[in-house]
Amino acid sequence: MIIANWKMNGSKELIKDWMDFVSQNIEINQEKECILCPPTCYLYFTGTLIKQSYEGIKLGSQHCDSVLSAPLTGGTNSQMLEDAGCEFVIIGHSEQRVHLKESNQILSDKLKSSIGMNLKPIFCIGETLRQKEANQTNDILIQQLDAIPSNLLQKCIIAYEPVWAIGTGENAEISYIEEIHSFIKEELKNKSNSTNYISVVYGGSVNLENCKEIYSSDKVDGLLIGGASLDSNTFTKIFNIS
Ligand code: PEP
Repeated sequence: MIIANWKMNGSKELIKDWMDFVSQNIEINQEKECILCPPTCYLYFTGTLIKQSYEGIKLGSQHCDSVLSAPLTGGTNSQMLEDAGCEFVIIGHSEQRVHLKESNQILSDKLKSSIGMNLKPIFCIGETLRQKEANQTNDILIQQLDAIPSNLLQKCIIAYEPVWAIGTGENAEISYIEEIHSFIKEELKNKSNSTNYISVVYGGSVNLENCKEIYSSDKVDGLLIGGASLDSNTFTKIFNIS
């Protein structure tokens, strides 16, 4: 799966043009889904367009609140996301962990709430540069994975996104990605007590130059792309050569 995370970018016009171009130039199949995550205010617009003309593209949200009901100004719950046509939701992105001060308890509630509405969480984990340099990566990842109730693990997609690689132009080396993905997959196997497959995708400065090498690894089940996903031509090329 290739996931486009637009962060706080875009407009109705850009979304329509992007979907027009991308849907005409990529070949989507069951093994390689194309998921677009626009800003929250464009979800309903995007969901409606998908239903009308772009069935192959799937809709994901960048945000979801942890409860269905609360007097929360600015809140968006999982029921609203489902109503807008979302099938996926990004939870635990490092930018939101910092900005919203999300604890494991909050993240766990977000996971439960979204899975309860049949949304598929893309759960982001990853270490900061300081944690990497202090050899704490594995401990941090274990701690972050602890937010997922073990009975819900099978319903999640895990996105390994080293914080130091997000938006910096410095992707992790393939050998490092493979080492960490193997570690995560082993942890998931132990935690879920099952051999059922849980996808682990990579995110962090994926671009036209590095996408093929990263995606072709058998340890990598997909890509989560921020900056390079905004331009329809670049995203299409990444999708097609990955
Ligand atoms: C992201 O926002 O999740 C991300 C990976 O961004 P970028 O591709 O720009 O590093």
